[in-house]
Amino acid sequence: MRVTTAFSRLVRLPGVWVRKVRFEPDRVIVEVALRRRRLVCPKCGFSTRARKDTRPEDSVWRHLDLGVWRLEVHCRRRRLWCPVHGARTEGVPFAPPGSEFTRDFECLVAWLATKADKSTIQRMLRVDWDTVGRIVKRVCDAELDPGWLDDLFDVGVDEVSWKRQHKYLTLVVDHQRRQVVWGCEGSGQAAADEFFDQLDPPPEHDEPRAASEPAIMVPFGPCPTVPAGHGIPGAWLEGGLELEPALVARAGLLRAVSMDMGPGYAKSVREHAPQAIICIDPYHVVQLANQALDEVRRAYWNELRRVGNQQAAKRFKDSRWSLLKKPEKLNDEQAATLARIKAAGGEVWRAYELKEAVRGIFQAGLLLEDVEVLIGRLLSRLARSRLEPFVKLGKTIRKHRDGILAAIRLGINQGRTEALNNTVRLITRRAYGFHSAKAALALVLLTCGPITIHLPHELHALGIG
Ligand SMILES: [Zn+2]
Repeated sequence: MRVTTAFSRLVRLPGVWVRKVRFEPDRVIVEVALRRRRLVCPKCGFSTRARKDTRPEDSVWRHLDLGVWRLEVHCRRRRLWCPVHGARTEGVPFAPPGSEFTRDFECLVAWLATKADKSTIQRMLRVDWDTVGRIVKRVCDAELDPGWLDDLFDVGVDEVSWKRQHKYLTLVVDHQRRQVVWGCEGSGQAAADEFFDQLDPPPEHDEPRAASEPAIMVPFGPCPTVPAGHGIPGAWLEGGLELEPALVARAGLLRAVSMDMGPGYAKSVREHAPQAIICIDPYHVVQLANQALDEVRRAYWNELRRVGNQQAAKRFKDSRWSLLKKPEKLNDEQAATLARIKAAGGEVWRAYELKEAVRGIFQAGLLLEDVEVLIGRLLSRLARSRLEPFVKLGKTIRKHRDGILAAIRLGINQGRTEALNNTVRLITRRAYGFHSAKAALALVLLTCGPITIHLPHELHALGIG
């Protein structure tokens, strides 16, 4: 067998044949030529036989390593004139447009990025982390099914901090499929508005849409209206008025949207999906209880330092995790610390008991009626607690009682949402080194979203590669 034939089989790149192979000190270079005669625009797929010219030098892609060798694919590409995109270098069937890597290599990187940490990937594949970010973004864009936002019924919207403090990503979770389905940079109302805009893209108008005032009355309540030509005609509407199309679009399918207790997301949901029930994710309530406990602990610790009891203060500072972790997850040392705090009694122990009472309410298996009774009891306990952070917590819970109960009634499962949330947090931390938020979002979607990444050998076995 000739060397070039052997390498054609080895690299297994679609649409090319190997012309030449050469070894350099640190790499193998495989020169290939495209089988097809026609030139294809990499942006739109327009194809032509007419060549504009040939690029003066080879294009280079990194392919899967060959043993310890770094493998480079070289190809002399032609240029074409696309009626839409102008002068372009022709696309190749084995690599995404604009990439310096073959599709096989990108699949391997994307798959590993969802499984392994930064240093493992960098060292194993010899790529820098920002390159990983760009690859992850490309693979995510290519693999995301266009119907990924169809059939959403119960969703949750939540933010996760990214990079530095006060920099956030907002993510939308599909509770039924237990997947992250959407994300953007930023948080609050603007971020949720962006989600609804993508769910139901606003129609493009030649001229700005007139204000929808005044709303007319239909038999089942007020109906927002839009100028003729932009909406949906209704037989009962007078004067050529039409229904706002968004009312029957994808946002109209939403049954429930779960969120934290801030005002931003709720405002956006009331505007874009007024039929959806607003639920409060129980784990946000538990999170607030943990914060209240931490405030009490810190105040006590400062008090110890103030009165000069340095040793006790030092011991107490280490108690943070003993208090905040679930008791069943404590190690022996932490459990001993917790036992000491219990023996000492006082406000820190009382705060701990209140936090555990909050957590207990949302434990799996409780019926809605039980939870209603328990919340009632909890609220009076919090009000009488004489611990400022817990009195405040009680007020917040009272304000959002309906939303909290709605989450339990509709079966928005705390354990599952929390588990997904923890995975997302882990992935976002791994994505801290990426320059762009879009790459971080892509990694979240690849890991927890509606995308299945295959390894190169699986793609070839499936006949996709
Ligand atoms: Zn084109």
